[in-house]
Amino acid sequence: MIIAIDGPAGAGKSTVAKLIAQKLGFLYIDTGAMYRALTLKALDEGIDIGDSARIIGAARASDIELINNHNGTLKVKLDGKDVSLAIREPRITRFVSDIAKIKEVRECMVTLQRKFGRKGDCVLDGRDIGTVVFPDADKKFYIDAAFSERVSRRHKELLGLGQKIGFQDVEQDLKNRDTIDSTRAVGPLKKADDAVYVDTTDLTIDEVVAKVLSYIK
Ligand code: C5P
Repeated sequence: MIIAIDGPAGAGKSTVAKLIAQKLGFLYIDTGAMYRALTLKALDEGIDIGDSARIIGAARASDIELINNHNGTLKVKLDGKDVSLAIREPRITRFVSDIAKIKEVRECMVTLQRKFGRKGDCVLDGRDIGTVVFPDADKKFYIDAAFSERVSRRHKELLGLGQKIGFQDVEQDLKNRDTIDSTRAVGPLKKADDAVYVDTTDLTIDEVVAKVLSYIK
């Protein structure tokens, strides 16, 4: 069974996807982590963000692995190295959407996501899972929340990760990414017509998980 969970940053998507996967014993595939890993590679190799040809080359030459740990956490490996923490750094968040809008980069990642998804029952979260990666997914959800709520959730999450980041910086980042992600030509952030829309603004994580599970069962 394939469960697709899409939505903008800060809506609670990945927390919910991870918990649903854990509860059902499914594999969890964080597709945003894959675009983040490629962004890390590009920055570490000194590739200019505007140099699409080199970024596409890096995407094709990357070995990205997602490993589900027994304690429910996810390990992200890039070319054999654990980059789980590095991909959450602000410098990655700042450029990831510029890299994710490149058509050939998306083709590369979508191919990989389909390969991972075919390994068995899984929950995938991203922006284009229900529309592009697995349009035939068994269940589709679009997890959303009011913009101000998304900003404060993301801000809290980053402070929890030890990042000294201001509220306004987070607000600017989400605004930028929302715009780039939803207006790009290929695989834009969009609710699939047959996805269940869940507004999480006034819901706790447990309530969202219960709601999503009630549609799956
Ligand atoms: O999910 P997360 O916020 O970590 O994703 C980081 C970025 O990766 C998004 O802002 C988006 O630009 C890109 N992304 C994407 N398609 C996906 C998942 C993430 O374009 N399926």
